[in-house]
Amino acid sequence: MVATRTSLKIQPVDGCPFCPDNGMVDITARSKSGRTFIAKVLVRTDRGMVPARGAYFVIPVEHHIDYSTLDFDFLKEVAELKEVVGLSFDNEGFNLTTKGGRQIEHLHYWLMKAHPHDQPLGLHTLRQRHRELLTERRAAESRRRGW
Ligand SMILES: [Zn+2]
Repeated sequence: MVATRTSLKIQPVDGCPFCPDNGMVDITARSKSGRTFIAKVLVRTDRGMVPARGAYFVIPVEHHIDYSTLDFDFLKEVAELKEVVGLSFDNEGFNLTTKGGRQIEHLHYWLMKAHPHDQPLGLHTLRQRHRELLTERRAAESRRRGW
C-alpha cells in the first residue's frame, strides 16, 4: 500500500472512505502532481473488505462531489495512472447520480480491467447481464427454499 498521507494539507471529510487521510483506500499509485491516486476497488464479503479483481478507481485527493469543482485536468491524470498500472480497461467512467448506483459522495472514476478474449461489452449490456444474473440467483434461491 502506498502512503496515504498527502503533502497537500487537505482536510478529509469525516467518515468519507475515499478521502485518503481517512486510511480506507488501498492506493496503488499517485499521479506526478500528487492530486489524484489510483486505488483497488474494495468490496464487502463474508470475509470483510477484499479487493475486487481487475477493478480500480481513480480518485482526486481533495473531496469533490462532482467534476464541476475540479481545477485541474483530472482526465489527463486518469490517463497517466492507467499508464502507470499498465493494464487495459474496457469499461470506465463516472457514476454521478445515486440513481446510477453511486454510493459514495467523493468523486471517483472507475475502471474495469479487460482480459485478452473478453467480448467488448458496453455498460448497457453489462447492466442488463447483471440484472439477469440477479434474477436467476433469486429464482434459484426461491426454488432451493421451496417458495
Ligand atoms: Zn472524501
